[in-house]
Amino acid sequence: MTFQRRLVVICTGCLMISMGLCWTARAFEEQSAQDQPPVGEDGSSPSYQSRTAELREQQLVSGGGTSESERAVAAAINWLARHQNPDGSWGCQKCERQCKDPSCKAHLTKAGADYPMAATAFGLLPFFAAGQTHETKGPYQQMIRNGLLWMVKNQDPKTGRLGGGNMYEHGLATIALCEAYGLSKDVKFKNAAQAAVQFTEDAQNDVSGGWHYTANPPTVGDTSVFGWQFMSLRSAQLAGLQVDRQTINKAKKFLTSVSKGKGGGLFAYMPEGGPTPAMSSVGLLCSQHSGMKRSDPAMTEGMNYVMANLDGAKSNSYFLYYASQVMHNLSGPEWDTWNRTTRKHLVSTQIKEDCAAGSWAPTGHTAGPVMSTSIHALTLEVYYRYLPIYKPVYSNEQKIELPKKE
Ligand SMILES: [Zn+2]
Repeated sequence: MTFQRRLVVICTGCLMISMGLCWTARAFEEQSAQDQPPVGEDGSSPSYQSRTAELREQQLVSGGGTSESERAVAAAINWLARHQNPDGSWGCQKCERQCKDPSCKAHLTKAGADYPMAATAFGLLPFFAAGQTHETKGPYQQMIRNGLLWMVKNQDPKTGRLGGGNMYEHGLATIALCEAYGLSKDVKFKNAAQAAVQFTEDAQNDVSGGWHYTANPPTVGDTSVFGWQFMSLRSAQLAGLQVDRQTINKAKKFLTSVSKGKGGGLFAYMPEGGPTPAMSSVGLLCSQHSGMKRSDPAMTEGMNYVMANLDGAKSNSYFLYYASQVMHNLSGPEWDTWNRTTRKHLVSTQIKEDCAAGSWAPTGHTAGPVMSTSIHALTLEVYYRYLPIYKPVYSNEQKIELPKKE
């Protein structure tokens, strides 16, 4: 799809009407959760429908995406495709084996230990976020299929565990498998995804409700590892897979144990610690997916804290990834400010030259170029990866760069 950029200052009401939607523009009205079921309710959800071509474009426009951000996403998935390993996997630092370009420097990045299962999940997720699967005809179809088959082949057939690393790997890979199944409904991946979910449930600390680096941790768990597991269970629910209600109830208990601040809208890494912007964004996103209302004082407290740390998002990809989802769900003028700042930052910092074109250099919070490229692309796909949890809130007039179909 080709977009021609057009910069306009537009009344939001007009934009909505032009999109055939009938939302009334309004600012700061209290909103309750939309018709998405919160985590804990069984059954499938229509939420992956935002990734269909038609809704994707609508969500892009209404959420504040631009032709530049979409070009950046396209360049990113092209870079990922060019740096997949021949066996279908990706690596945190083993990018050189596939890339034939003599100018390629991807392999020169030293990222410590390699986590191929996590890297493969990162390699695939930006494709899924844009609605592309192994069944989508096009240049990436076989590549996506090879990635998925590699994941399933390397799953522990007895336990369902994905990857031999820590629970970060398993959580990320579970999100990828659940999305692959949820988008395609290909039964080949249903059992693998369900088995991965089962392992996640088994790995939870039964008392605290948390997850940590190791399965069934001797500690209560930590918010960072927790976030990936929790979102993988959410992905499973959206895909129509079974998630044990008890697991979710215990997880909510963990979230409460790490919540801080007057209203409980700030979050710490562990119960005894203090809040940080990154952990707060994880906690807020999980709270949103757990059914917390937009009008909840905790959500207001958390949003204000996230906004106060906007500048820090430019140097913390992890915070940026989570906080962008939180702010996108909340919409309104704060999201408008957040989005314009971070979107421009991401587009401008993407590498434009040589074989690295489309990638982002690793930051202090990303292990290697695959993870860095993936997490930044996913942040630019926030407009349509999920439907917003809450009904959109619009300020009366917003400056929107409106992509126009040629
Ligand atoms: Zn290369």
